[in-house]
Amino acid sequence: MGFWTGKSVVVTGGSGFLGSHVVEILESEGARVFVPHKRDFNLMKLEDGLKCFLEAQPEIVIHGAAFYGGIWINQVYPGRIFYENLVMGANVIEACRLAGVKKFVGVGTACSYPGYLEGTLSEDRLWDGPLHETVRNYGLTKKMMQVQCWAYGRQYGFKGIHLIMTNLYGPRDSYNEQRSHVVAALVRKFVEATLDNKPEVEVWGTGKPIREFLYVEDCAQAIVRAAESYDDVEPLNIGTGLGTSIRELVDLTNEISGFKGNLRWNSDKPDGQMVKILDVAKMKKSLGWTPPTDLRTGLTKTIGWYREHKLEADARF
Ligand code: GDP
Repeated sequence: MGFWTGKSVVVTGGSGFLGSHVVEILESEGARVFVPHKRDFNLMKLEDGLKCFLEAQPEIVIHGAAFYGGIWINQVYPGRIFYENLVMGANVIEACRLAGVKKFVGVGTACSYPGYLEGTLSEDRLWDGPLHETVRNYGLTKKMMQVQCWAYGRQYGFKGIHLIMTNLYGPRDSYNEQRSHVVAALVRKFVEATLDNKPEVEVWGTGKPIREFLYVEDCAQAIVRAAESYDDVEPLNIGTGLGTSIRELVDLTNEISGFKGNLRWNSDKPDGQMVKILDVAKMKKSLGWTPPTDLRTGLTKTIGWYREHKLEADARF
């Protein structure tokens, strides 16, 4: 019998991008997974979260639900991003405590790190400076979950962990123009330009920022492993530890998609943080795991998936 056999788990956001991949792994390993849907449980309300956990009686709650997106959505919906994530995080953790959930797994973000540090971001640097202004409304709210787990641990003996994800990409991401992160945005632009024989694709910023890209199925594997075996209240980074410039990413997407036209760099669009790469030494040691999918392989799979599911992918906000 494996760790997950017969275990009851709630995955908030389990029908979303990352959450749906987590659910697939848990189910394949024999867990009984419950995914709360918005129409039945509004997780911004404490009583709805509590009702959900009292009904489903989970041993473990993986909180993957979030209102988030790429650099543009933080400019369009900064208030909504702040309020929804802060209130949902606080209430889901409080509901876990009240319902006697044995372990809470918080899905955090690399946007929580200081925005102007040099070098890779190790867990002990989480509080070493101000967040980047383009993501502070999102990053700060996610970081509060770690503080809440720490405070609840001290006062109530609550067990909660905080996983800090780098930029994700892959099947079932948001390909919506306003919401998408850079990989999904580029995949859509290059595939559409190829299909429509467009002469040009517009890309944003200067191409100089460096990001780290983790394939979503790899990230889901890491979450499942950490839920099994990582029990420290101090955060754990989940990433590849490898930096890729936006220009390199654009070139790779261009090549794999088979686009034949020109690129236009729109420098009126923001670059955001210049470098964002997680230090993953602790992840490798604690989980005994490294992400199996390299960027070329993941991007090829993602472009293939997007071509096959274009209508459904474009319809998702
Ligand atoms: P961030 O990682 O939070 O800054 O968010 P994004 O993934 O949205 O953006 C990462 C970088 O990719 C930024 O420097 C963007 O300017 C750049 N970028 C280049 N082209 C695009 C595009 O078409 N869409 C988005 N979202 N970003 C782009």
